[in-house]
Amino acid sequence: MEKIKKLELQGMTRAFGTAKALVDFNLEIAGGTFVSLLGPSGCGKSTALNCIAGLLDLTAGAIILNGQPIHHIPAEKRGIGMVFQNYALFPHLNVIRNVSYGLENRPMPRAEIERRVRWALDLVHLDIEEFGHRFPAQLSGGQQQRLAIARTIALEPNLLLLDEPLSNLDTKLRNEMRIEIKNMHRQLGLTTIYVTHDQSEAMSLSDVVVVMRAGRIEQVGTPQAIYDCPNSLYVADFMGYSNRLPVQIVERDGDEWRVQTETGVTLRATSTYAGSANWQPGERVVAVSRPDELLAEPLPDTNQMRGTVHLVDFVGKAYEILVRLEGKEETQLLVWGQHPIELERPLSFGIRPNRLLLFPMDDTPPAVRVKTRYREPAWQ
Ligand code: ATP
Repeated sequence: MEKIKKLELQGMTRAFGTAKALVDFNLEIAGGTFVSLLGPSGCGKSTALNCIAGLLDLTAGAIILNGQPIHHIPAEKRGIGMVFQNYALFPHLNVIRNVSYGLENRPMPRAEIERRVRWALDLVHLDIEEFGHRFPAQLSGGQQQRLAIARTIALEPNLLLLDEPLSNLDTKLRNEMRIEIKNMHRQLGLTTIYVTHDQSEAMSLSDVVVVMRAGRIEQVGTPQAIYDCPNSLYVADFMGYSNRLPVQIVERDGDEWRVQTETGVTLRATSTYAGSANWQPGERVVAVSRPDELLAEPLPDTNQMRGTVHLVDFVGKAYEILVRLEGKEETQLLVWGQHPIELERPLSFGIRPNRLLLFPMDDTPPAVRVKTRYREPAWQ
């Protein structure tokens, strides 16, 4: 397997008629990196992947692999492997032949084909004795997914592209396959581009996450950097900052801002938005937070807020508590607590200033909507 040194995507643009699916996409990927393209449906993730694979021509821009342009080279000559969302297995071929098929047209001794088939099935933990002679219809969804990956890996591509490979699997299988994909990447060191709309999948697998919006790159960074420092409300929303609170800037205070809620509560907050340096007192912005960082057991030196408990949901290691803000009942925030709490009780909660992030108001709808269906707590 020939390892790549660098993949450069330069101004990659793809239009369908007048509609631009991909606009000026620039990214440099070092060999061995696991990159995820993350974004909602229709933001251009698959278009980007198909352009790299050679299944779609570019309208403008260039794809440079190890210093050589490859965007004019046909797909089958690029040495790129792609795993599709729907697996695209051959239904009339058994597992072994699904994997060997792509190798049979190559000038390759039979023994080498057999070695690669065994190696690839082994890598995805599909036992050749048990499953080798089964047809795709005789495999579970997870096994079909493993086969799709084995079939691509057997070709020893220099770049692996995965288009939402886990989206047809249930949660348990997704988690298992996620670990398998991570292990495989660690073992092979294969440069990988992975398309997903699942934030946790992108975060757990990737060295680099590319958040896309309407055909463009919105933010690129390590999972940690994007999680801690989203550069827009759109990215914050994708990273699970689902609580929104309209506030007004009071003043800047070193690295922090003092802001006031509509009910007159003063809070300290931070901004990871590049344009925040220009904010003036009186400016209206939005303060966002992740529910798991807005805590019902506030520590000293955190922002304090008060509200009334509206709904409670046990989510495993904590309780998610929907709180109506004191003085502004229509503002609801999701808070985490370690203990159950009765409905309609007053509740104090807080958040550290560096986890309350300020952004300009924009028209991005919240990605994670506040739940409307809750189980009844047991003590009711
Ligand atoms: P999903 O997660 O739903 O697969 P995506 O982020 O992969 O979405 P793309 O499939 O890349 O999005 O599509 C990006 C945009 O390009 C969409 O608006 C889509 O409707 C449009 N598009 C994609 N393929 C075509 C096509 N063949 N003809 C016309 N428009 C297309």
